[in-house]
Amino acid sequence: MARKKIIAGNWKMNMTPSQAVELVNTLKPLVVNDEVDVVFCVPAIDLVPVMEATKGTNIQVGAENMYFENKGAYTGEIAPAMLTDIGVKYVIIGHSERREYFAETDETVNKKVLKAFEYGLTPIICCGETLTQREQGITLDWIRQQIKIAFQNVTAEQAASAVIAYEPIWAIGTGKVATTEQAQEVCGAIRACIAEVYDEATAAAIRIQYGGSVSAASAPELFAQPDIDGGLVGGASLKPDFGKIVNYNK
Ligand code: PEP
Repeated sequence: MARKKIIAGNWKMNMTPSQAVELVNTLKPLVVNDEVDVVFCVPAIDLVPVMEATKGTNIQVGAENMYFENKGAYTGEIAPAMLTDIGVKYVIIGHSERREYFAETDETVNKKVLKAFEYGLTPIICCGETLTQREQGITLDWIRQQIKIAFQNVTAEQAASAVIAYEPIWAIGTGKVATTEQAQEVCGAIRACIAEVYDEATAAAIRIQYGGSVSAASAPELFAQPDIDGGLVGGASLKPDFGKIVNYNK
């Protein structure tokens, strides 16, 4: 069965709640495409107003992060039940900015992935190499290691429903998009890794996004690649151009 494309915006630490509602109202008519799952991943404080503002639209809502415990004395953290209680469906896990600035590791990513599945959330699991790693020729080994650890103790059924975002760190927010060949090569290797860890059916079902300076110009060619099932979009998800990215096939 053909995989449905999934195009998610990662708003990062932008947009106050009132700005978020304004942005949803601007984007809502532009991001209609039945052939694509459209997700807005927004800051925790924007989740409730964005859930409200997207009611009755094709837009699904995701969080940018969550904690791996159920509840308790973890000041400042967001529990998975807080997300599901308001109808959030997706959660970005292990974004490179969280790994760099908030000490997230492959092990904490794995704990969060397991917790997301326990609560019925779909994790968008991020992986990606630095420019140095790419220049050293260790990109594929690095990504395979990130994937294998992220999926430890995840069942095949759960894995099949997950989303992986391949985001070369050197391409995030830099305006430098990976070439189509580079993006396809790594996304293909991720799918092969899932086949190795699980089986061909799981690999055929899992959706793999490319992320890193995706624009309306680069999206059509990237998303036409056999192993690229959409994108995780940062900067361009805050602009009307996101509508063009979602409608890359029109
Ligand atoms: C991201 O942060 O997930 C991302 C891909 O950002 P940008 O599109 O701005 O490079």
